[in-house]
Amino acid sequence: MAYVVTENCIKCKYQDCVEVCPVDCFYEGENFLVINPDECIDCGVCEPECPAEAIFPDSDDAAAAWAQANRDYAGIWPNITRKGEAPADADAWKGKPGKADLLSPAPGKGTA
Ligand code: SF4
Ligand code: SF4
Repeated sequence: MAYVVTENCIKCKYQDCVEVCPVDCFYEGENFLVINPDECIDCGVCEPECPAEAIFPDSDDAAAAWAQANRDYAGIWPNITRKGEAPADADAWKGKPGKADLLSPAPGKGTA
């Protein structure tokens, strides 16, 4: 079991989730975060912290389409352990449908 970041994080990336994760298993893309399913201990602490309601357990139907992307990008994006600045237009993108095509495969900066 693991938790999964889904579509509504795209271009929101508030990063409240990374602050609470006890095992630092978030990885940062240019406009999206993912959870490494091999590191997540399934504690569920991050789920209610996400302002965009983008995090689901992998047993939830909402997670199915995003589980593989979390696994794949966690292997190539840098680890993020501290909250950085959210995008200036994050609130404008919050809750918008149809963001999947906007997912950037580029890595984020991560936490040095
Ligand atoms: S808190 Fe939610 S929207 Fe923000 S980075 Fe984490 S998963 Fe994405
Ligand atoms: S469920 Fe727990 S361990 Fe997994 S990503 Fe969220 S806070 Fe981290």
